[in-house]
This record gives sequence, C-alpha cells and structure tokens, in this order.
Amino acid sequence: MGQCPKCGKIFGAHAVAGDDSSPQVGDVSICFGCGTPLILVELPYEFRLLGQDDLDSMDPGTRLILARAQYRIQHPDSSYADLEK
Ligand SMILES: [Zn+2]
Repeated sequence: MGQCPKCGKIFGAHAVAGDDSSPQVGDVSICFGCGTPLILVELPYEFRLLGQDDLDSMDPGTRLILARAQYRIQHPDSSYADLEK
C-alpha cells in the first residue's frame, strides 16, 4: 500500500488508464482523497508530488485529463458541464 504525500490517504487499490495493465515507475497518478497529482517513484505505490517540471513535460491532453480528474475529486457535486466553463 502507498500513501498520499499531501493528505496521508492510504492507497490499497489502483486503476490504470490506457493500454498498460500495471503501474510503472514514472506514471502520473492522482489521489482520490484530495485530488493531488502524483508521480509513481517506486513500486509498489511510493509516490511524490507532481512538480512544475513534470507538468511542463506533459502533453496537453494528459494535462487536461489530470485537471478534469482533479476538479471532479475536489468538487464532487460538480457536473461535467461545469468543466467546460
Ligand atoms: Zn491525497
């Protein structure tokens, strides 16, 4: 199990988006407790906070997915329409 370096939430499970079926070091993740973007630095489940350099090197599509996921976690009563505002 891992732990969010921001809020301390313990991770006992994960979901992988995309073609890979297992997490890899360097994968971008997000805490479902607080919505903080994270980077997987060691298996199993050792994370660090996402930095500006990480964001700068990320493609725009991934940044958008991350921002939308973060917003939905931090605003659970929001709708998808709120994301387009
Ligand atoms: Zn967290």
